[in-house]
Amino acid sequence: MANKYFCPKCKSELTVGNNIVLSAKAKDGSGGLIKLSPKLGDYSVEIPETINVKPGELLTLFCPVCHRNLSSSKHIHLAHVLAKDEEGKEFDIYFSQVMNEHSTITMLGDHVKLYGEHASKYQDLFGTRQMF
Ligand SMILES: [Zn+2]
Repeated sequence: MANKYFCPKCKSELTVGNNIVLSAKAKDGSGGLIKLSPKLGDYSVEIPETINVKPGELLTLFCPVCHRNLSSSKHIHLAHVLAKDEEGKEFDIYFSQVMNEHSTITMLGDHVKLYGEHASKYQDLFGTRQMF
């Protein structure tokens, strides 16, 4: 039941093997490629030592193909990517770019789902209609 993930700008696939691979840049300008779990609500992340980031700091994410900033217009702390589930249904995913903040919001039409213990802080940005 693996979702596939895509850049919202160039539509390149971001899923490589069993990971989502994104380009990341820390506050101090250090950067590299990070690997995220494609499983919603799983916040395991592989960050190379070249990236100098501490818990609570913003790690800005970029598409590794077109290098465009993935920060959402909804909130600077949220990155936005597209996803497709096994049935081919497309939806939007927003997730926190703040280290150790566990927030993921999926949106399919009016249907919003929250994942992670910190997601509720962004809930208001997505309207009140929810489906769990
Ligand atoms: Zn791209």
